[in-house]
Amino acid sequence: MKPTIEDALNLIRPDIAGMEPYTPIVPFEVLSEQLGRRPEDLVKLDANENPYGPSPKALAAMGKLDATAHIYPDPEARKLREALADYVGVGAEYIMAGAGADEIIDLLMRLFIQPGDGVINCPPSFGMYPFDAALHAANLIEVPRRADFSLDVEGIEWAAAQENVKLLLVCSPNNPDGGLIAPDDLDRLLRLPLIVVVDEAYIEFGGVGSASRRVSETPNLIVLRTFSKWAGLAGLRVGYGVFPLHFMEHLWKIKQPYNVNVAADAAARASLDDVETLMATVELLKAERERLAAELAAIPYLAPYPSRSNFILCRVDGIEAGELKHRLAEDYGILVRYYRKARLFDHVRFSVGKPEQTDRLIEALQAIGESL
Ligand SMILES: *Cc1c(COP(=O)(O)O)cnc(C)c1O
Repeated sequence: MKPTIEDALNLIRPDIAGMEPYTPIVPFEVLSEQLGRRPEDLVKLDANENPYGPSPKALAAMGKLDATAHIYPDPEARKLREALADYVGVGAEYIMAGAGADEIIDLLMRLFIQPGDGVINCPPSFGMYPFDAALHAANLIEVPRRADFSLDVEGIEWAAAQENVKLLLVCSPNNPDGGLIAPDDLDRLLRLPLIVVVDEAYIEFGGVGSASRRVSETPNLIVLRTFSKWAGLAGLRVGYGVFPLHFMEHLWKIKQPYNVNVAADAAARASLDDVETLMATVELLKAERERLAAELAAIPYLAPYPSRSNFILCRVDGIEAGELKHRLAEDYGILVRYYRKARLFDHVRFSVGKPEQTDRLIEALQAIGESL
């Protein structure tokens, strides 16, 4: 007898069949249509993208792919990793490039996690950690951050003592609050018998050094970085991890061979050839962050948290945060991040934009304040 749809569905992995569906973000053009505004009239402050975009050198490099676009990329991304070695200050042999840091998170889980193994997450933090942990059927152990969003180190130490706990994921500066991990906290966490992954997607905005340089002498430290934010390449998907050498041969075994495409590779290398220009825009964004923070602090119903990143999280009091997000989008064409999550239900996050975008945001927030 022919198998039925049900028979076919029963072949899906039961843990995936039982998973909650992932809510993908609405694409920018679709949002623009829904809101009845042209994309160029929207102020996009919802995904921490770099409003200054890629370096001109990166754009030019992507225009010159005639000799390479039809050829598979180097599976080892040698040229990119060599350029990264200079930028990061570690040998190329410590670096693995990926289709965004997101791919590296997935690779980490593949390398360490068997079904049921423990992964410690410290929410609120980046949504991809629980997402990938679930995909790998990990036992997700949540150790919430304290009220000021610092890590609950004792709580993590307690969680780490459970059976088969393998990974701890911490983000610094943390998304969504923008705070840095305290150096003493990191030192303590590195003494735990598990892998400590420090996600430094926003480190270029942090004003502190990267933990990358500690990797060679720290057998359980992995650092994640990306071109998506500081270099304005979010749409191209290119990031990397810095790993202790003893993990590298195993990582190479599990990586998809052609994970970094030639356009992303060319743009990333050109960006590393234009660091000065890109760092000038990072400085602009850091200065704008301070101006935005001061402006937000003057809005009576908002309480911004100090940020070392390119976004500012605010507690909202006097209007529902979801309603605020909705009004900013519908009435002003300003997109911001709102979280339907326990700890953050009364918060919104604003990415730092260009000065004129800050002006539009602040005007809108003032107008909404007057209507309350
Ligand atoms: C944006 C972001 C990333 C994702 O980086 P990609 O390189 O674009 O995949 C990783 N971690 C955090 C905390 C982020 O906010």
